[in-house]
Amino acid sequence: MSVSAVEDRRIRALRPPKPRIDPNVAHGSIVEEERRPHGRIERALTVFLAGAECPFTCSFCDLWRYTIDGPTPEGALVRQLRGVLDALEGAWPERIKLYNASNFFDPRAVPPGDVEEIAALCAPFAAVTVESHVNTVGARTLELARRITGRLEVAAGLETIHPVAASKLNKRLDLARFDEAARLLGESDIDLRVFVLLGAPYVPAAESVEWTVHTVEHAAARGAAVVSIIPVRGGNGEMERIAAAGGFTPPTLGQLEDALDRCAGRFASVVTADLWDAERLPGCVECRGARVARLARINLGQRAEARVECAACGGA
Ligand code: SF4
Ligand SMILES: [Zn+2]
Repeated sequence: MSVSAVEDRRIRALRPPKPRIDPNVAHGSIVEEERRPHGRIERALTVFLAGAECPFTCSFCDLWRYTIDGPTPEGALVRQLRGVLDALEGAWPERIKLYNASNFFDPRAVPPGDVEEIAALCAPFAAVTVESHVNTVGARTLELARRITGRLEVAAGLETIHPVAASKLNKRLDLARFDEAARLLGESDIDLRVFVLLGAPYVPAAESVEWTVHTVEHAAARGAAVVSIIPVRGGNGEMERIAAAGGFTPPTLGQLEDALDRCAGRFASVVTADLWDAERLPGCVECRGARVARLARINLGQRAEARVECAACGGA
């Protein structure tokens, strides 16, 4: 067994049980306003699809909770997507994001025979975002770009460029491979959206914001249209093990503010803070809501804004 396979097995053994996932029903969807480069605001529908688990087993990942055991059954994604789109009754936002908690270009996750029908279902949308590890960006990506009516965007995790931390994520992500995928996408007129971690394991807590900013800079320099800063969450077993060994300190709401304040509006890329779980980040209960609301405004406006003042915690 290879070293990676041993590491995968070790990380998986620490996981709590996952909920039962129905492969015929998307496990969520949401319509949100999002900022795009050049100041445009668009509405985007995100569909959370259920399918095969990603093979990479990153140490910080909790997306496996929303996956099934074994490969995605043929036709399942089409049924899931149709269910969400039917409920919209023709009120199409500009963008659809197909997030399958895995890699869209992995045939185990997205059966190749389903791609044509998925592309047809996405025809009403001006833009389509799918997610993929950069290692699976290639010929299938270019083929999908040809098949869909709208413009393709690939969302990929760069996570951290901290050399020690990056080597310990179990992501098998080579920075040169990331850069090569970014170049291929750019040359092929495909947009790139990048996920960057705040609080990546093995980045010293005192340097956490600094390395997040460096990683955003790297993604922006490789032409990312959007860079999303994602605070690392615990709860997958492996993060608790790393925390107990001193290698992970959960990021705070204040650090997320520091990171976004240092990045938003600085680049051609739109830089946003992922706020889906922000209410759970360590921070003052009195001003948390106002601080999350400020981040939401910066996500959309990309303009600096004074920090929230709070008598309870002494913030800003
Ligand atoms: S590549 Fe993405 S989905 Fe796969 S294990 Fe890593 S973080 Fe999770
Ligand atoms: Zn406060």
